[in-house]
Amino acid sequence: MELNQFTAHELLEKLKTQEASPKAILDSLYARIQKVEPEVKAYVRVQEAENSALNYSSLSLLKLKGLPVTIKDNICTEGLPTECCSKILQGFRPPYDATVINKLKESGAVIFPLKANMDEFAFGSSTENSYFGPTRNPWNLDCVPGGSSGGSAAAVASDEAIWALGSDTGGSIRQPASFCGVVGLKPTYGRVSRLGLIAFASSLDQIGPITKDVQDAAILTGLICGYDPGDSTSVNQGVPDYTKSLTGDIKGLKIGIPKEYFVAGLDAEVKTIIEEAVNKLKNLGALTNPVSLPHTEYAVPVYYIIATAEASSNLARFDGVQYGYRAQSNNLIQMYKLTRAQGFGQEAKRRIILGTFVLSHGYYDAYYLRALKVRALIKQDFDKVFQDFDCIVAPTSPTSAFKIGERAQDPLKMYLSDIYTISVNLAGIPAISVPCGFTKKGLPVGLQIMARPFNEEMLFRVAHTFEQNTDWHKLKPRL
Ligand code: GLN
Repeated sequence: MELNQFTAHELLEKLKTQEASPKAILDSLYARIQKVEPEVKAYVRVQEAENSALNYSSLSLLKLKGLPVTIKDNICTEGLPTECCSKILQGFRPPYDATVINKLKESGAVIFPLKANMDEFAFGSSTENSYFGPTRNPWNLDCVPGGSSGGSAAAVASDEAIWALGSDTGGSIRQPASFCGVVGLKPTYGRVSRLGLIAFASSLDQIGPITKDVQDAAILTGLICGYDPGDSTSVNQGVPDYTKSLTGDIKGLKIGIPKEYFVAGLDAEVKTIIEEAVNKLKNLGALTNPVSLPHTEYAVPVYYIIATAEASSNLARFDGVQYGYRAQSNNLIQMYKLTRAQGFGQEAKRRIILGTFVLSHGYYDAYYLRALKVRALIKQDFDKVFQDFDCIVAPTSPTSAFKIGERAQDPLKMYLSDIYTISVNLAGIPAISVPCGFTKKGLPVGLQIMARPFNEEMLFRVAHTFEQNTDWHKLKPRL
């Protein structure tokens, strides 16, 4: 086995015993990238890779001992291009590190010099909206890896990364994790600092890990979360040692199965695989019961009002003056217009227009305000279930990975890809996706587990117990 194929916790052992060095791990990643990247395209700006001179020996005393972490292109890395895979941020090199990057560096991580591909500004479910072109699913190169963190998920699944960070506004960590057969966690809103995460929808965005197994997810979450005075929505709450949640015991836990997630639109094969996974949890001693989240059907429309409203406002700052790309014109207003017309892709423009509309005078009450009210009802649905249940289990996505191009021309169809992940962001709760099977065509399926706010420990406990009693996470795509 090559070094790049191991999990982070396995490599940490090897670094401790000096069976591996940070340099050897990086070399194995580069060798893998050279081999499979022409097909997978998980990374962007591969030709421009810069190798910073690192003092590995100074890292050896720190927790991660020089282990590399792959970062999505919307998380600021000082001096390293961070472009959200958009033309409008072309050439942008942030003058500072995001808080999560600072935390990783303080833990002795090496920030991998190549950034992971994504849908432009995290708008999408397939990574087809990237300015750099699509990433391909390592399990079937004709299929999408999911999105918007498709590059991070594909890199981890194809062993081009040891582990990675993504961001999740409506499912962008969990859905690609599900499509690529890896683990992905969306932490509680406020758990991880958003300082230095280029904003999509500020009331929904969270950074989280994409990893080869649950133990790695527990380690990485522990390293990036915690209070940050630089993010006013960050919550001041202690950080538990998440690896202590990996007990392998879920006996007596009460698990709710939401009936609204098993309706028309759920692929029959995915349904069977999820039902088998639920049975597995039962056999491991959990008590499962049907529950209801009655406002589920409103999640997608509510999300696309709130998320586009916030996006249109967040994207107003890209005008050719302060960041990235600037169109040439002698007239200031014309320069703004040309920069935005040339810099944003089609989906970004669609969202700016939609968001501006729902916030505009005369429509604000009818759309935005009403969406906020329904959002509160969606949150109440979860609160109610969590009064009696420890967690909720459902599919991560209604289908396995779809073909590249299949939904690209039909935004509404694309928007429905996130029907099972979006409510979690609207409610601000944490959720994880863990591999739970494969379709007959050999595409991975993910099981989603949701818990009360700040109870990531429950997610790790259930996901880890499930994982330790199944072999899905051990399978690798043939590349
Ligand atoms: N697919 C959803 C969207 O396009 C979610 C994206 C995300 O979580 N960043 O908005």
